[in-house]
Amino acid sequence: MDKNTYKLLTPGPLTTTETVKEQMLADLCTWDEEYKQMTQQIRSELLHLAHADSAYTTVLMQGSGTFGVEAVFSSVIGPADKVLIAVNGAYSQRMTEICRYHQIPYIAVETEYDKIPDAGDLETVLRDDPAITHITMVHSETTTGILNDIAAAGALAAAYHKKFIVDAMSSFGGVDIDVPAVGITYLVSSANKCIQGVPGFSFIIARKDDLEQTSGMARSLALDLYAQWAVMERDGGKWCFTSPTHVVAAFAQALRELRAEGGVPVRQQRYIHTNTMLRDGMEALGFRAYISRDVQGPIITTFLYPWDRAFDFQDMYVYLKKHGYVIYPGKLTEQDTFRLGNIGEIYEEDIKKILRIFAEYMKGLV
Ligand SMILES: *Cc1c(COP(=O)(O)O)cnc(C)c1O
Repeated sequence: MDKNTYKLLTPGPLTTTETVKEQMLADLCTWDEEYKQMTQQIRSELLHLAHADSAYTTVLMQGSGTFGVEAVFSSVIGPADKVLIAVNGAYSQRMTEICRYHQIPYIAVETEYDKIPDAGDLETVLRDDPAITHITMVHSETTTGILNDIAAAGALAAAYHKKFIVDAMSSFGGVDIDVPAVGITYLVSSANKCIQGVPGFSFIIARKDDLEQTSGMARSLALDLYAQWAVMERDGGKWCFTSPTHVVAAFAQALRELRAEGGVPVRQQRYIHTNTMLRDGMEALGFRAYISRDVQGPIITTFLYPWDRAFDFQDMYVYLKKHGYVIYPGKLTEQDTFRLGNIGEIYEEDIKKILRIFAEYMKGLV
């Protein structure tokens, strides 16, 4: 089989190790004690990565990351509640859409996509609207690569006694997050981002006291967070419905490899290093990044089209793919951009290679 003809410079699915992929060659039984143990080990390892103790618990949920976000929103925010959504990208915008589908009361506080939400602005809204019960923010906005200040939002949530939901999809495992210290009530992430597994499930790290109060609140059967948790607790690692067994086995291996790499702080250093190399190198070639360095996160970088040349994204995409790398189109509506991710099995040598390929390509343009 002709596999791995290219590496992914995309923020998930991303390039995984051979050893992670090999785990998917076995068919596992969902009722089997060893398989259920695997789920339990994953749940406790994730708590460990989150710096959380027994005040927290982990729930795994079938589906991509959005399923996890939707599971939380539709399961823990009641009809009399209201959520403040800090919007500065497509993923936080998607949260407003989830609210509309489920008729969840919300207020969106919008910030330009190249800026982080200002805690002062959020506080003004909080002070003026006592109906707000939950605050939510995306940590790493994959739309632009910006890293939002969840510590400041968490401090506000604590001061105003609100619950705090964080979409840490493209940061958890690649950026160290002390979940209790930040004051997070629910954190959502997924298998195919910084933990470097394959797509198929998301996971929620939840404060037990809060989750316990949500029994019967879910607006969806398949995405009922409380029910999934209750079954996992009662049946020692059983999922409510069929779980993605191959993906779970691959994820368990990805967690072992994260530990072997030296844990989250070491992986974070690798990401910062490759991200900086990539941004520096692209800027040296004449590309301009969409956000400034002080807010740039270590996961993905958005670049503007170089309009001073005869530039065609699709043409560049095909060229890069032919040379072994696949990149991401932009996700901004008002500007033409493309994105380069640096998470997954991407190392310094890859960045050097990618920059040489870009340099060659740009030489060909007039
Ligand atoms: C990847 C991602 C999601 C989930 O997207 P899916 O396509 O459902 O996996 C949500 N939020 C952020 C910030 C992401 O990067």
